[in-house]
Amino acid sequence: MHGRLIRPGEPGYLVAAWPNNARWADVYPSAIAMCVDDHDVRACIDWARQEHQAFAVRSGGHNYAGFSTTRGLLIDVKPMSGITLDPKNGLVRVQAGASNQDMADALRATGLAVASGRCPTVGTSGLVLGGGWGFSATRYGLTCDALRATEAVTADGTLRRASDRPGEENDLFWAARGGGGGNFAAHTSFTFALHEVGDVTTFNIVWPAKRQVELMLALQEIQLAHPREVATRSKIAPATAASSRRDQLRVQTLGQFFGPPARLRELLAPAFALAEPIVAEINGLNYWSARDYLVTDDPTGLYDMRSSFVEDRLGGDGLDTMMAWMERWPGGSLRQDNMGILFAVGGQVKAVAPEATAYVHRRSDFILEIEASWSPLDTPDVVARQRAWLAEYFAAMQPYVQPRSYVNFPSRDLPNWQHAYYGRNLPRLSAVKRQYDPDNIFRFPQSIPLDPRTAAAGSE
Ligand SMILES: Cc1cc2nc3c(=O)[nH]c(=O)nc-3n(C[C@H](O)[C@H](O)[C@H](O)COP(=O)(O)OP(=O)(O)OC[C@H]3O[C@@H](n4cnc5c(N)ncnc54)[C@H](O)[C@@H]3O)c2cc1C
Repeated sequence: MHGRLIRPGEPGYLVAAWPNNARWADVYPSAIAMCVDDHDVRACIDWARQEHQAFAVRSGGHNYAGFSTTRGLLIDVKPMSGITLDPKNGLVRVQAGASNQDMADALRATGLAVASGRCPTVGTSGLVLGGGWGFSATRYGLTCDALRATEAVTADGTLRRASDRPGEENDLFWAARGGGGGNFAAHTSFTFALHEVGDVTTFNIVWPAKRQVELMLALQEIQLAHPREVATRSKIAPATAASSRRDQLRVQTLGQFFGPPARLRELLAPAFALAEPIVAEINGLNYWSARDYLVTDDPTGLYDMRSSFVEDRLGGDGLDTMMAWMERWPGGSLRQDNMGILFAVGGQVKAVAPEATAYVHRRSDFILEIEASWSPLDTPDVVARQRAWLAEYFAAMQPYVQPRSYVNFPSRDLPNWQHAYYGRNLPRLSAVKRQYDPDNIFRFPQSIPLDPRTAAAGSE
């Protein structure tokens, strides 16, 4: 290895091993390979294959379900974070360890961007391999839609270039756009198409705890009526940790509008007419200032979550059910900020055919995320109650959502996960798996099966 191999007990080991979701922080790797170049990645894959050792590949370490943790070799590509701009061809080549923040830093001065995610420390690798939602998705598409080529070390230790050009591993390229990280190869770089950026309008509106269903319906109508102009992340959440009673649940929408503030105010008028907001920040900004405004903090924490997709809108019954379950929150030390969120995925995301890339959910308009989070203050009983609540809440929402789930918002407890993540693209993904990883060395609890018939039957 050219990079550092960190063994248990050596300085930095615990920090390097720590994933974003601390639920998996006690999964200690036998060693952590800090890969600095393609050679290191190949050496790791060759060693793991020859020695029959378990491994996981990690970039940003944000996988919710702990799939970039392992008791074997942790192959960490984070040191490979170089970014090379090719403005003449409208391309940028990003090494596999670069984060959303690295990309923003590299592109900020250029007037060009790649549609990417909201969290600064999420790795480009995990983001693009699973799809990649951000506040530019409805306008410019998912991060995976901007992918033009990728380099990856496959199970046989070969570094391959994949793209849609003839002779360049077209199937691997197809699978890299939504097939989920860790399934086929260890990617070392991604080349994205850039788009030009201009001024946009950001908004953060919070309403008092009333008329929640009507407000969420109105916000969805606005999104559906202007799919490419606006990108919303709308939610219902309690104001404090103390109570999630209906009179404590507030509607918030955070988003980006590709037009001037005055026009956005016109679009939002139906929601403003329902109730006077308690926060109404609407600002015309340049694209990068808007990105800085919209980024999330990314606390490492303890959490469990589920995701679904919604076609068209989540109707009044679904929203009522959602609120009824929020009211049943069993309690805990933290305010539950992410009890029910709708991320807009219409517009340009829907312009791509479901089978054109591995990301299959091209008929959906929203991703629904529901989450439970806790802290070390909460006893195991409290945590067990929260997790049981999450499972029941998720089950209760099924009549109102599609039987699908976003592979970048995964859960180990998701029933029928293969079909939920991949739908009708599952057989082709299994064929790609057989082609590039016939011995199934890229393996984790929800890795793509070699034989799709081993996956439980499901819809779509
Ligand atoms: C705070 C937070 C905010 C988020 N915000 C968004 C958002 O705005 N939009 C969105 O779409 N998603 C978001 N996500 C989800 C995020 O996109 C996924 O968790 C993503 O897969 C994380 O990528 P990563 O590289 O950081 O994670 P990792 O855990 O390192 O990797 C994720 C998966 O990809 C594999 N992998 C990593 N690197 C490679 C590689 N080089 N080659 C092959 N496989 C690899 C891993 O083995 C793992 O299975 C968020 C997650 C968190 C925790």
